[in-house]
Amino acid sequence: MALLVTGVAGFIGSSVAAALLARGEQVIGIDNLNEYYDPALKRARLERLGAAHGNAFTFEKVDFADQEALEAFAAPHRFDRIIHLGAQAGVRYSLVNPQAYVRSNLMGQINMLELARHREVEHFVYASSSSVYGGNESLPFRVEDRVDHPISIYAVTKKADELMGESYAHLYRLPMTGLRFFTVYGPWGRPDMAMWIFTKSLYEGTPLQIFNGGDMRRDFTYIDDIVRGVLSCVDGPPNDDGKRKAGGSKSPHAIYNIGNHRSEELMRMVSLLEQATGKTAAFNFQPIQPGDVKDTYADITAIQRDHGFEPSTTIDVGIPRFVEWFKQYHHID
Ligand code: NAD
Repeated sequence: MALLVTGVAGFIGSSVAAALLARGEQVIGIDNLNEYYDPALKRARLERLGAAHGNAFTFEKVDFADQEALEAFAAPHRFDRIIHLGAQAGVRYSLVNPQAYVRSNLMGQINMLELARHREVEHFVYASSSSVYGGNESLPFRVEDRVDHPISIYAVTKKADELMGESYAHLYRLPMTGLRFFTVYGPWGRPDMAMWIFTKSLYEGTPLQIFNGGDMRRDFTYIDDIVRGVLSCVDGPPNDDGKRKAGGSKSPHAIYNIGNHRSEELMRMVSLLEQATGKTAAFNFQPIQPGDVKDTYADITAIQRDHGFEPSTTIDVGIPRFVEWFKQYHHID
């Protein structure tokens, strides 16, 4: 039986779909190919999937915030698991266009949950975010921590997604796993994220905008580790009594952090980019941006315990791989 992957033209969705296809699964993918960032990159990701896997991969352009459109798409298709990775991503844009987040991340999530419940899928796996930890100051962030201080509308919608998931798991015994990803990077990454923007600036010879004087730390997580983490949850038994504890839930709903479990200084990321590109950065220092969290650091005990997940790629290895891909994608010699 096929898996339905939403946001399949996105960074993480296309990478997860590629891994599923590589191991012989049938993947039905949907995405609305919106213009939050260059749709040509989204199309290139889709071409890569279609070219490599032919009939095993089906794509349809669908807006899952539109319930009628979603139902019309789903009617002829059969799938037993859903990996819901489509969303309006990005913290800063949620201060500019909060409505886009409410639409895709709240209306979209409820539409996907309704679909999952009517189809009685075996497992609904969805993306949350480290941003739900918001103003939490005790590091590392643990899934058991209270998360009731979101500092952006993006974080609000991700926390609400978890609450909706909890309610559907409880009401309909829908097996459910929510994944709080930590700053994902790597080949086929996102042009709105710092690593891409810095690499572009280095090649263009323009100053890097550095917030909070560079005094920020991120748990940078390489895409291959994220993909392995997602697949380990998709493959594992959705939930049993032991696993319900992960997110403090009594319903068949687990929530995990997926991070690298290392909190790296932003400026170390910059110096690795300088090494990999062979360029020297100029800087334009700015105050911390509204909505931005100063530090992130994932405690991954829960997913280690329940799914044997271990991240394996440090930024010393992952950043040169990203830069190599970036050069190929942009035809930089
Ligand atoms: P992405 O923007 O590359 O992918 C999301 C995809 O969803 C896009 O291709 C977009 O076109 C699609 N989409 C958005 N709204 C849609 C709608 N209404 N209908 C259909 N498709 C829609 O982002 P990503 O980095 O791949 O993120 C995947 C998921 O992981 C998202 O839920 C994101 O919030 C979450 N996340 C990502 C990171 C990260 O560092 N990349 C960190 C934490 C959480």
